[in-house]
Amino acid sequence: MSLIHPTYQKEFRRAIGIVSLLTVLLLMVAVVPMPAAFHDVAHYLALHTVVETLSVITASVIFAVVWSSRQESLPRPLVLLGSTFLGVALFDFLHLLSYQGMPSFITPSSPEKSIYFWLLGRLLGGMGLLAAGLVSWQKRRVWVPLGLQVLGVLLFVSALSILYFGWPGWVPRMFLPGQGLTPFKVGAEYILILLYLVAAGLFVWRMRQERRFNAPDLFIAVCVMAQSEFFLTMYSRVTDGYSVLGHLYKIVAYIFLYRAVFSEAVQHPYDLLQDSREQMRATLDALPDLVLDMDLDGRYLSIHTSKVDTLAAPPERLLGRPVDEFLSTRNSQIVRGALHEAYAHGQSRGKILALVSKQVVRYFELSVARKTTVRGQTPQFAVISRDVTDRMKSEQALRTLSMAVLQSPQSIIITDRRACIEFVNEAFTRISGYTAAEVIGRNLRRLKPGRTPSATFRTMWAQLAQGNAWRGEWINLAKDGHEYIESVLIYPVRNVQGEVTNYLAHNEDITEARRAAEQIRSLSHYDQLTGLPNRQLLRKHCQGALDRGDPLAVLWIDLDHFKAVNDTLGHHVGDVLLQEMARRLRKALPETASVSRYSGDDFVVILPMSSQDDAARQAEALLATLYQPMHLADQEIYTSASIGVALHPDDAVEFDMLLKHAETAMYRAKSDGRHCVGFFTREMQTHVSRELLLGNALKQALQNQELFLVYQPQISFESGAVLGAEALLRWRSPQWGLVPPSEFIPIAESSGLIAPIGEWVLRTALRQLRQWQVQGLPPMCMAVNLSAVQFNRPGLGKQIQAILAEAEVPAGLLELEITEAVAMKSPEIAALRMEELAHMGVRFAIDDFGTGYSSLSYLKRFRLHKLKIDQSFVRDINLDPDDQAIATAIIQLSRSLGLRTIAEGVETFEQQEFLRANGCEEAQGYFYSKPLEAKAFTAFVQQMPSPSLARQAHASELK
Ligand code: C2E
Ligand code: MG
Ligand code: MG
Repeated sequence: MSLIHPTYQKEFRRAIGIVSLLTVLLLMVAVVPMPAAFHDVAHYLALHTVVETLSVITASVIFAVVWSSRQESLPRPLVLLGSTFLGVALFDFLHLLSYQGMPSFITPSSPEKSIYFWLLGRLLGGMGLLAAGLVSWQKRRVWVPLGLQVLGVLLFVSALSILYFGWPGWVPRMFLPGQGLTPFKVGAEYILILLYLVAAGLFVWRMRQERRFNAPDLFIAVCVMAQSEFFLTMYSRVTDGYSVLGHLYKIVAYIFLYRAVFSEAVQHPYDLLQDSREQMRATLDALPDLVLDMDLDGRYLSIHTSKVDTLAAPPERLLGRPVDEFLSTRNSQIVRGALHEAYAHGQSRGKILALVSKQVVRYFELSVARKTTVRGQTPQFAVISRDVTDRMKSEQALRTLSMAVLQSPQSIIITDRRACIEFVNEAFTRISGYTAAEVIGRNLRRLKPGRTPSATFRTMWAQLAQGNAWRGEWINLAKDGHEYIESVLIYPVRNVQGEVTNYLAHNEDITEARRAAEQIRSLSHYDQLTGLPNRQLLRKHCQGALDRGDPLAVLWIDLDHFKAVNDTLGHHVGDVLLQEMARRLRKALPETASVSRYSGDDFVVILPMSSQDDAARQAEALLATLYQPMHLADQEIYTSASIGVALHPDDAVEFDMLLKHAETAMYRAKSDGRHCVGFFTREMQTHVSRELLLGNALKQALQNQELFLVYQPQISFESGAVLGAEALLRWRSPQWGLVPPSEFIPIAESSGLIAPIGEWVLRTALRQLRQWQVQGLPPMCMAVNLSAVQFNRPGLGKQIQAILAEAEVPAGLLELEITEAVAMKSPEIAALRMEELAHMGVRFAIDDFGTGYSSLSYLKRFRLHKLKIDQSFVRDINLDPDDQAIATAIIQLSRSLGLRTIAEGVETFEQQEFLRANGCEEAQGYFYSKPLEAKAFTAFVQQMPSPSLARQAHASELK
């Protein structure tokens, strides 16, 4: 049994059962002697005729079933059975007609004749069944068409019939009346039995495989046929019981054969059809779509849907009605359009219906196919309506998303997992110059990297490989070759399973921002006027050397009298001068040196690895370079400078300290007469702290009455008399002793203390003058120095008027001294101020004349009384032709402006004589008197000749 495939086992068991039962019957019949009643069965002919008619009918039906089926879909053996059983039916029919007792037909009926046709029928049937066992049931294609097979069978039947009718003598004897069957006939029957048994074996053999055809019924048929033949070897009279049983077994065999053929040709295809219908129904049920049949007019012919509620109406209302009755005009037009398109082209796809239900729009996509129809019938269409609302919505969302990405102002690149570019947006093209077509498909790793360091890419890929985002910068090359900087955020994009499918890069062009930042950096690190580094950058430059403890020299360079240039020639000229000085410094210094503009007219130079001697040499060279004449505002300008030097690490180790020391050294150089180099010493440090302490002490000086005035007489060359006095401020500090005004007045000016102090000076000096008048001293002027702060303070006129009134001194006796720089800073305002005071009667003198840069036109406009030749020109006036020329020029200028001239710092007779000879009118200086306290001054004046006496003395002196 294990030989039999499980799909056959049940049927095979049943088949064995039936065959066994019939075999048992056969054996019983064979063993038990035939009862006499069956030796000659009554009405045998009628019985035979009925049985054989049934046989003929069954065999014909087998043929008819095969003939009327679609033969191309039938298995080959089945077609073979169909055609052979046509022959079997014909032979059986001839056998029926030829039976003993039947009317003669062509030749007289006889057992011989009927046996002949019987054997042929069995032979043909046996051959057909054997072939059915041999030929595969799987190959469906008919290799000899049924028609041809039928023709062959008909020829075979006709040929053998003609043979018999024409030449009966050729046929061996098979039945001898009275004797029974001949050995030929019995032998033929055994051969047939063998044939059937071989066929039975073949069918069993076929049942090893999965069920392909009704082999069990065929098996029963051939077994029973073999049994039938066995019975027919046994009869001795054609009418005995064995013959009857043989015929009955044959009909049983035919019935099973018919079952097999019918089940294969009709039942099996029908089952298949039923199956596929079931499947189709299941498929339709599983479909979320609405499946319809329609005609060309849009009439619903059939409806299939698992969701009836999505229909425009219940199916029974829709059937037979056209769509127009249920859908809007627009939607029914779309449906009809799709139907017509399918009619013309076989199918229509993609038409979308928009149906509104409960105020919600849902979209349906139509797929229409024309069905094959019998000619003349109205065309029908299979229509599938699919709800695509969600898809449309997600498509819309996707469209919005892709538009957003496409139009993003930031450049966006999307690559696949291997970094091949799949998408770039418009901004990418705008910024890089590359079109999408030029880069899509190219690998990001192989794109021209511009100047992005390869280490950047290495870190980037390493980050991405770990599934992390990377943020950084690319320096890219655009298609036209220009370079641009991008801030990049690149990150892996994952699918729902979490696998990386793409990389997405957002790039922002930050070239402009970077440039602006660079500019800001340069603004914050470089001096805009000269382009030199500022103090922060300078600090950076030398920080390394300072940290390492390398020797270096710091040179603090301050231009002498730069303020005067600025004040008198204007800021623009001052700026040009600074630029030129910066250029000269840069040019004169070695590459390794750093130059910076520190503030105003202060420059700082750092000389690395420099000894004191190197620094001194370099500083002297710089002084010479800076002093080269320069043509500015139609003038030759000589700019000297004072340089202070501090050394690292000897003087200080910190940058700020070094600078401070260099500055201190510079101040020393300034006080040493300018245009020279000073090195920092420890002693200077005490001086600096002294400045701070002095500043503090000065605050108390006024109320502690530590300030006092000294008066220096001003002598007339003409009369030799004392024409006036210059009030000079003194500070005697209990802590510091006598502090010179050159030291404390700048401190007072910078701290604002000069205002109360200046007022006190004015008041004290004028009171003193009043006192001298009261004491009967000859009438004199009082010269008082005004600082820039005082001169520029609003309300100066009123203040002076009050003080004059208070001291009861006429305004004409007060002479205010201002320097050129103060007067020329804002000449328009100065002119107005002088005008106001001059209107009151107060006189003005320009102090230290010749050291600044005066504009002649302003000098002319100022309400001046005197020019005071600076003592720097007087000092060497007898030796230096330059000083002589300058002094003479000042006197000439003064004269031409209608002013008086006074020389200060006259220490010798020769100086006095030169000045007098050149037209100077007055003088003050140690030659006549040092500045004196009031009492001493009174004494000095009293011992001087009166103006008239002096004149006489002077005249006699000349003689
Ligand atoms: P200045 O106004 O040019 O004063 C003249 C300076 O020359 C005085 O110095 C005076 O002592 C000095 N001097 C006079 N004759 C000779 C001489 O023959 N040889 C030498 N070598 N020097 C001579 P001092 O008193 O030290 O004053 C210095 C400066 O301080 C003054 O220069 C003035 O600008 C300022 N100053 C003095 N007192 C006052 C004041 O009350 N108010 C203001 N704002 N400044 C003052
Ligand atoms: Mg003065
Ligand atoms: Mg002076």
